[in-house]
Amino acid sequence: MNQETPITQVKGIGEKTAALFAKLDIHTVGDLLHHYPRDYEVFSDPEPIASVVPGEVCAIYGAVYAIPNVKKVRNLSILNVNVRDDSGAMQLTFFNMPFLKKVLKPGGYYVFRGLVQTRGTAKIMEQPKLYKLDEYRKKTNLYQPKYALTKGLTNQSVQKAVRQVLDVYSFEEEYYTPQILEEHQLLSAKEAYQEIHFPIDRESMCCARKRIVFDEFFDFLFLLRRSKDRVSGLPNAFPMFETADTVRFLEQLPYKLTGAQRKVWQEIRDDLGGTLCMNRLIQGDVGSGKTIVAILALLQCAANGFQGALMAPTEVLAMQHYEDIVRFTDAFGLCFHPVLLVGSQSASQKKEIRQMIASGEANLIIGTHALIQDKVQYQKLALVVTDEQHRFGVRQREHLAQKGNDPHVLVMSATPIPRTLAIILYGDLHISVIDELPADRLPIKNCVVNTSYRPQAYRFIAKEVAEGRQAYVICPQVCEGESDELENVVEYTEKLRVALPPSVQVTYLHGKMRPADKTRIMEEFAAGRIDVLVSTTVIEVGINVPNATVMMVENAERFGLAQLHQLRGRVGRGAHQSYCIFISTKENKETMERLSILNHSNDGFYIASQDLKLRGPGDLFGVAQSGDFRFRIGDIYTDASILQAADRAVDEILTKDPNLISPENQRLSVHLENHRMDSVDFRTI
Ligand code: ADP
Ligand code: MG
Repeated sequence: MNQETPITQVKGIGEKTAALFAKLDIHTVGDLLHHYPRDYEVFSDPEPIASVVPGEVCAIYGAVYAIPNVKKVRNLSILNVNVRDDSGAMQLTFFNMPFLKKVLKPGGYYVFRGLVQTRGTAKIMEQPKLYKLDEYRKKTNLYQPKYALTKGLTNQSVQKAVRQVLDVYSFEEEYYTPQILEEHQLLSAKEAYQEIHFPIDRESMCCARKRIVFDEFFDFLFLLRRSKDRVSGLPNAFPMFETADTVRFLEQLPYKLTGAQRKVWQEIRDDLGGTLCMNRLIQGDVGSGKTIVAILALLQCAANGFQGALMAPTEVLAMQHYEDIVRFTDAFGLCFHPVLLVGSQSASQKKEIRQMIASGEANLIIGTHALIQDKVQYQKLALVVTDEQHRFGVRQREHLAQKGNDPHVLVMSATPIPRTLAIILYGDLHISVIDELPADRLPIKNCVVNTSYRPQAYRFIAKEVAEGRQAYVICPQVCEGESDELENVVEYTEKLRVALPPSVQVTYLHGKMRPADKTRIMEEFAAGRIDVLVSTTVIEVGINVPNATVMMVENAERFGLAQLHQLRGRVGRGAHQSYCIFISTKENKETMERLSILNHSNDGFYIASQDLKLRGPGDLFGVAQSGDFRFRIGDIYTDASILQAADRAVDEILTKDPNLISPENQRLSVHLENHRMDSVDFRTI
């Protein structure tokens, strides 16, 4: 078995189970091995009831002393059970499990394990798991992997499949030299995959993770380096000069560019008219106004008689850019003939648009990765702008180069990273920074609260909606079944519809919906026909709905601070006062301290660097990553030292053996050839 073996060849996985795995994007044995645990479950010894901590998963061992009747509320049955040990008592609530009334005998002792919550001043557990003591003892202190799941697929069945694969998988022969393994203290790949899925203890898991993260960064940085070597000396094949079009456009805009925007626009103009091909990154915090600078560059491109392309990571964002640009074109008589090309269009629509691109009739092409498909032939593509997706940029450039084009490249990113990391991760680009926000912005008001604040938050949202504003609510999951501890978009929407006045329009949006539906919902939200949009982080990048003033995030503890900051950037984009409500289910000190950084700062760079300080190895799992660099497992912030190590390794190898011809680098050369595209796979959300 190797990387590409279809998952159906694993014993016990038939078509039906394979279809479930496919929902998790697992099609091959390689995908399964890369399906790293989200977290590990350690069944620790039961604790006295008096000392359990809200926000943590705990086990208690106690006697059932009173079982009242099952209550019915609408179609929900609720069973409250009181349990007692020497230290105190606690109420447990079970939903839709009326049969437990017969199972739990008053006076009987059981272990109950679940998330401790507060209700008023009392500590409670909802839906705890129930064990006999000897049954629980067998599980105690083992590391059990917890995987992201989908309805119908249990954690048990994923574990089983992974175990089987690990037994028979043929791992690639070691391709690092012994010196690299030694210098960076790396396990073998085989050990690493074994231990990341089934670690003996925390330390072995961390070592395993280190090797896998190192590999991921290493492959990426190698590719980046090659890309850099290829493009850094390219001559300017499409020199462009400033025309009256951009000057007039700037005069017509309803606002003046900030000083930082003007400076960056000047740097771009210098590149476009210079001797070398442009490879530039515009780095600017959310809301700093990157789009307008990109539009200026595209306008200059069109005015010089060339074609430009604008690529976005999601259809939703591509659509929004398209509509903004059409609006500008009509209002100001710009020399654009824009077209939109996205995956969800019909085949005949796409064909027609491709013809307009090939003939040169369209001079501004906006879309997603559909823009770099082989079928798309450009007439004179001279500038490619990618919004919020750097990794997209590397791959796309390779792709375009293969077609014989070497257009100017402009990458826009809001990922706040410290300079030391930027130099590594954007090694192939010149960096321009927009370090100033438009002056008319009111600072966003923030709060970090626990779940008991929800009713107040709902009243607040209702009030803002009554005043004509709109709100986003973010949940970490799409639907129930992935993990029962986290809020999900589908059920939360139902809850909100009940909690908010009936006149408030609540709808949901998530990445697994059909692209056409996503686009429609986003359009309706932008048009103000939807008041509250419950969504996954699919709206994290780029979306600009200035009328939205509330951003509420459920399970905020699950997100990296940089990502929360990015989400916050969806509000505060217009003239109205905006608000962010971060709801944390975990109330422990570390979590609250980490989240409260958002309270004190609106500066993306500062927030990211603080996150880096506070998220130790204890938080490696289960915190979603942010920004452009969505590695499978590596996190540019918490794994910064591994990133730097991988960068050093790449550097050392290439300094000694730039073409990888020495015998000791042969296996590495083969490895990189096989993984060329793999390491830069981007995700379209
Ligand atoms: P981002 O950098 O996050 O991509 P956008 O380009 O979407 O930000 O800009 C956010 C909002 O700010 C938009 O509504 C845009 O019209 C507005 N904007 C951009 N530049 C300025 C400026 N100089 N003054 C006032 N508003 C601006
Ligand atoms: Mg943007």
